[in-house]
Amino acid sequence: MKGRPAKRILVTAGPTREKIDSVRFISNYSTGSFGYEIAKAAKRLGLEVIVISGPTALKAPRGVKFIGVESAREMFGAVLKNVKRCDYVIMAAAVCDWRPAGVSANKIKKHHGLTALKLIKNPDILKRLGKHKKAILVGFALETEDLEENARKKLHEKNLDIIVANRLKAGRSPFGKDKTDVLIIDRAGRLTKVQNKSKAELANIIVDKVLSCNIY
Ligand code: C5P
Repeated sequence: MKGRPAKRILVTAGPTREKIDSVRFISNYSTGSFGYEIAKAAKRLGLEVIVISGPTALKAPRGVKFIGVESAREMFGAVLKNVKRCDYVIMAAAVCDWRPAGVSANKIKKHHGLTALKLIKNPDILKRLGKHKKAILVGFALETEDLEENARKKLHEKNLDIIVANRLKAGRSPFGKDKTDVLIIDRAGRLTKVQNKSKAELANIIVDKVLSCNIY
């Protein structure tokens, strides 16, 4: 007799890159490590894992379906295409909120004197998923102030089930290898504080919490 099919999870990771011209882009310091640890934790627990990742220096986690993307709009397209039969979505990617309004096909020359960039808003992938909700949705919030308040606001605005909030502290980067503190807030308003843990330890805690959410 066949067992029940494995639950499926989609994890986004890494930064996005938004092109200015053929050789330049705007982006952020995300290394992708949090998302990749989450994908590994989910895989260890027997889930079928899809990773959609912006450019990183990391090796793709083993045994997952891996889709590499560059821009927020590419990530948006890949998420919409792959989310359909997923039970859980964890948006750990640091998606650029803005992109240059126009991309020059050729390298912009110094003597053209470019001194300002016009930016336009990227689609909010998570918000869109929250509007047509078919999976447990988890978002991340990186804040420099009013961490808990802003995270709770985001949880409701984006119709999430869980939000993982990370404070950006002077001298201590939430990106890369450092141990970090997070707040995990669920839809019912319950708050869990987790302190001084590695990304791998946090990933296990987050995935456990996500799997204990009720399925829609
Ligand atoms: O609003 P803010 O960018 O702080 O929200 C962070 C959460 O929303 C993260 O989970 C991030 O992956 C997601 N996000 C998104 N699309 C964007 C911006 C953020 O899905 N354009």
